[in-house]
Amino acid sequence: MPLLLLLLGLAASGWAAEPTVHVVLWFDTEDYITPEDDDACLRLARDLKARGVTATFKIVGEKARVLEQRKRFDVIQALKGHDIAYHSDNHSIPPTPAVYLKPLSMTEGATEFMLREGPGARDVMRIFGVKVLSTYGQPGSSWGPQSHAALKQLGIPSYVDEGRHVGLNNQPFWYGGMFWMFNLGPNAIRVDINDPAKLEPTLAKAAERVVELQKAGGGVLHFWYHPNEFVTTEYWDGVNFSRGANPARADWKPAKLRTKESSEQTYQILNSYVEKLQKMPGVRFTSVRELITHYQPATPPAIAPEKARAFLAAGLTWHEKWSAAELVAAALGVPGEVASPAARHQSTLKRKQITRVELETAMAQAKRHIREKRQLPAQVWVDSDTLSIGDFVATMAQAPDGAGPVPVRQAVLAFEQHVATDACRNYNWVIHPEGFCAPELYDLGRLEAWTIKPATLRVAGMRQSR
Ligand SMILES: [Zn+2]
Repeated sequence: MPLLLLLLGLAASGWAAEPTVHVVLWFDTEDYITPEDDDACLRLARDLKARGVTATFKIVGEKARVLEQRKRFDVIQALKGHDIAYHSDNHSIPPTPAVYLKPLSMTEGATEFMLREGPGARDVMRIFGVKVLSTYGQPGSSWGPQSHAALKQLGIPSYVDEGRHVGLNNQPFWYGGMFWMFNLGPNAIRVDINDPAKLEPTLAKAAERVVELQKAGGGVLHFWYHPNEFVTTEYWDGVNFSRGANPARADWKPAKLRTKESSEQTYQILNSYVEKLQKMPGVRFTSVRELITHYQPATPPAIAPEKARAFLAAGLTWHEKWSAAELVAAALGVPGEVASPAARHQSTLKRKQITRVELETAMAQAKRHIREKRQLPAQVWVDSDTLSIGDFVATMAQAPDGAGPVPVRQAVLAFEQHVATDACRNYNWVIHPEGFCAPELYDLGRLEAWTIKPATLRVAGMRQSR
């Protein structure tokens, strides 16, 4: 864009003040057993609307159906004033997503997730009259990467939650073709709604984060609750579905209720927190649906093949605005978005070097696979042996110039560091069976990290149409 146009654009947008820090408030809206939870949803939706805040309500399919059955159209109407998103069909009735995804491949898992969670998404869309659910987040810590393909098929463009499974620099990122706000670390600024004394210290912490993010050119803070927290003293699902329990529907018990005074105090703490955050310069409450539009789309900018190859030689990971997978595609002359390999294979080739012709043949195979499928191949062939996609990319990227033989390299997949390793601690959720661990899901998650890269805020005044 010519400089003059750029400056005009900036002037028109009123760009002068500090960069914007978006604050996203989301609610996991899930207690379909305790009827008082409906009133909490209504109160929160109305209080926030009155403050001019659009929050994101991630709604469980059964919660939406229960609101309809109880004829709580007042609640449905109030929630419709906010951003409607998805939080699984039944949340805590076993098997929960990580439990049923654990033994499945990427493709089998996507099918299973679609069969189990698809109907609930369609119910939430129908009951709330929305064509697109802005985001999804898993129940508890019940994450599995096979869900991403199914979510995209349901038209859900983003993944929002808090957890340790995957993360990048405590800010939004792209992963598996979705926009992620997850694992924000110090940029998650939840105020304790049970203790008024925590309000001021949390505000001070939030103010510090706002300054830090503004120095970096803007960014995102988020915090979240469950409407049930405002009316009950225990979690509805812990009461009924602890450690894999599955009582008959007739035996479900509501959670214990707060006193009216205690409940009132929780609303007041949240309302004061929101009010004070709104007054901070440069801070703006933004729904997930809107937040995505403040970021550049996932489509990678153009890059010369030689530059892409140099990035890959420097480290097999994302660089600047490109995922490792996108750099591979660009280096091979078929640039654009590209999915992670379908499986992980080990190289069978034992030789220390290959000929230039063998390298070129391998490159042609990978190029054809990417061009036809927009997906990295899991491996390429050298005669009757294979190089894993990682070893192939490392070998290609570090190949010396000239016509001589090419040393075979073993890949160090640096992008895998963005997926956690402790698959027992991170899956320790009171609803999962005792001792549940899912290292298989982290293996698939690391494979998918070929596609991870930071999300980039648009420059103010330069918002382009998607
Ligand atoms: Zn939940």
